[in-house]
Amino acid sequence: MRATQFFDQALLKKYNTSGPRYTSYPTALEFNEQFSYTNLVSAIKESPNNELSLYVHIPFCHSLCYYCGCNKVVTRHRDKADTYLEFLAQEITEKAVLFKNYTIKQLHWGGGTPSFLRHEQMVKLVALLKENFTFAEQVEMSIEIDPREIEMNLAEHLYSLGFNRLSIGVQDIDKKVQQAINRVQSTEFIASFIAHAKQVGFKSINIDLIYGLPHQNIATFTRTLSKANEMAVDRISLFSYAHMPTRFAAQRKLKDEWLPSIEEKFALMKLAIEMLCDFGYEFIGMDHFAKPEDELAIAQNAGDLHRNFQGYTTKGGCDLLGLGVSSISAIGNSFSQNTKELQGYYKAIATKAHAHEKGVNLSRDDIIRGEVIRELMCNLYLDKNKINEKFAISFDDYFADDLPLLQTFIQDGLISNTRDHLRVDQKARLLIRNICMSFDAYLKQHINTQRFSRVI
Ligand code: SF4
Repeated sequence: MRATQFFDQALLKKYNTSGPRYTSYPTALEFNEQFSYTNLVSAIKESPNNELSLYVHIPFCHSLCYYCGCNKVVTRHRDKADTYLEFLAQEITEKAVLFKNYTIKQLHWGGGTPSFLRHEQMVKLVALLKENFTFAEQVEMSIEIDPREIEMNLAEHLYSLGFNRLSIGVQDIDKKVQQAINRVQSTEFIASFIAHAKQVGFKSINIDLIYGLPHQNIATFTRTLSKANEMAVDRISLFSYAHMPTRFAAQRKLKDEWLPSIEEKFALMKLAIEMLCDFGYEFIGMDHFAKPEDELAIAQNAGDLHRNFQGYTTKGGCDLLGLGVSSISAIGNSFSQNTKELQGYYKAIATKAHAHEKGVNLSRDDIIRGEVIRELMCNLYLDKNKINEKFAISFDDYFADDLPLLQTFIQDGLISNTRDHLRVDQKARLLIRNICMSFDAYLKQHINTQRFSRVI
């Protein structure tokens, strides 16, 4: 893969606006309290699916990374997780009875920091899930790891519990950058842990990197990317740091003058894309890279990639059940979310045995637009006839008000629109969410798009 095909600096600058990442359509901004728990139960009953992806949110972190925009609770007290697991157990038993006809194909623990849990707490949680849900024989089990507070033997422990995928937060290996973001960690330990995890049997390991952090420059980030390559992982997620200090208080610790300028940030992104492609990674979506033999790359080449609340996935056919504080579910024709605040979660579980707070029932228009956006996000291609057949519409008539919005992208050579298809050019890969915004019926209502991060 040649990196130059993805990068046209003038166009990237022109379209560097704020926009949703479309892990769902409609986005979470449309979730509302009119969508009740009863609506959620109906959506489960009406869903034609019988395969389930489980997401479990562990909200605790040992310390605060100043760039972070996640939903988390910072504490040094690991015992707090005991209380959390008690409430989570109640939610699991309440929800599991609604999913008796389902088979679990995928389990992901995210956070916060799932590796905040002690070994015995992990054992307890896996046992609880397996007692209550029916797991497929081949189940994809993944977990996010903060490498600062773990021991080498965590790899054996997770493997013995059935986990087969790891995702490790590296972000940047430079000490000055790490100090600025309050995330000092040992690169040598991370490299040894990854090597050890491979020996233990893990077949898929991802690391996260971030560009746009304080004090990053071409020299420092070249070292980070080279080190990432030496770790020889299967996937690399490359995120753009979105500086939104009015929304995320911790980011106020990062002084503006420490941050790279927009030109420097472009240069960092370009460097990363070029180096990762040179290292032999395929550029998957907006921010994911995978080795050609990895199933994300295989799925994309087969036009079979999907997207859900965790990003790109190969398990698009599954319903998604989120468990724990702030977790999001996508069941049948609905999206829903648990309460975001920990004490509120405890209170809700204690009084109602569930913590459902809001959601949305998808209209037919939401479903059609959602499919168009997903196809473009995942495959950079849309077969209009497939949409026409599936939904009994005429694509060009149905989207008559939206298609003129593509004109600017067509003029810039970023997309072609023929009678039968929409095809996104490779150089628009980084701008794909801008293109998808043309099909978003809700966006006009959110003039204040600063609620979303910038494209770059
Ligand atoms: S980046 Fe991860 S470990 Fe750091 S505060 Fe956020 S959720 Fe916690």
